[in-house]
Amino acid sequence: MTEKSSSSAVTWPEDPKLVRHILSLSGGKDSAALAVYLRDRVGNIEYIFHDTGKELPDTYEYLERLEGYLGQKIVRTTFGTTFDHILRIKGGMLPSTHRRWCTDLMKLKPFENYIGDDFCINYVGIRADEDRVGYISHKPNIRAVFPFREDGIAYEGVQRILEESGLGMPPYTEWGRTRSGCFFCFYQQKIEWVRLKKRYPDLYEEAKSYEKPNHINGNVFYWCGNESLTELEKPERMALIESNWNKSQERLGKQQFNLSLAQTLGGLKVEPQRREGCLICQL
Ligand code: SF4
Repeated sequence: MTEKSSSSAVTWPEDPKLVRHILSLSGGKDSAALAVYLRDRVGNIEYIFHDTGKELPDTYEYLERLEGYLGQKIVRTTFGTTFDHILRIKGGMLPSTHRRWCTDLMKLKPFENYIGDDFCINYVGIRADEDRVGYISHKPNIRAVFPFREDGIAYEGVQRILEESGLGMPPYTEWGRTRSGCFFCFYQQKIEWVRLKKRYPDLYEEAKSYEKPNHINGNVFYWCGNESLTELEKPERMALIESNWNKSQERLGKQQFNLSLAQTLGGLKVEPQRREGCLICQL
């Protein structure tokens, strides 16, 4: 497999036994499918999951199923504290697309700490049909490889791998969520917030409880752009979001005459062409 490292400043060992093989799972379909795909292709692979403590119950359930299939434990990394503690240090400023400290501290750092200075090949589940740049760490002892991209495996291929293994798609896709990661992830679309409210009202409440004036300047930060979760959960607002979503899906469906069954994902009629978000949380 072709490997990419961020620097050639270090001398890579010739003895393959000195190189670790690591697949970082997000709880999403692509990394899960990659684990299935690599199970009998790569020996001594280590599976890890960076637990923020704010994941969906679906994610934990899916990882347990995956462990059963792999016959191997998935190592849960920690980041030495809690999301709530870091948030207090940050003065209550919620992470956002412009202040994405959460990924750095709760996902990337634990990944790099887990590897340390060891030489490591990092398997990344970017698919052949995705136009994304995929390296997630800049340490020179870590090389990224992209088996799906190299083997021409696209969305349908990933879905087939999961179906044939008996693992299936992540449970959250059944209720129309498109991404793994924290239940309050700010990358969620409004329709996903509506679905979270319906599926896990307690988690919606918990997310809402974070929307309060911060200690630095008293401003209130919202998870969802400039709309508070209190506003979003009003019945008439949720109905409007759902109606707009249905209309947009109808439009997309008409545009994609050749939409195949394989492209159907939970409540979605189409797989988004480009996903916003960070690789380590959502692949
Ligand atoms: S899933 Fe979203 S909220 Fe959680 S660490 Fe990743 S970007 Fe941040």
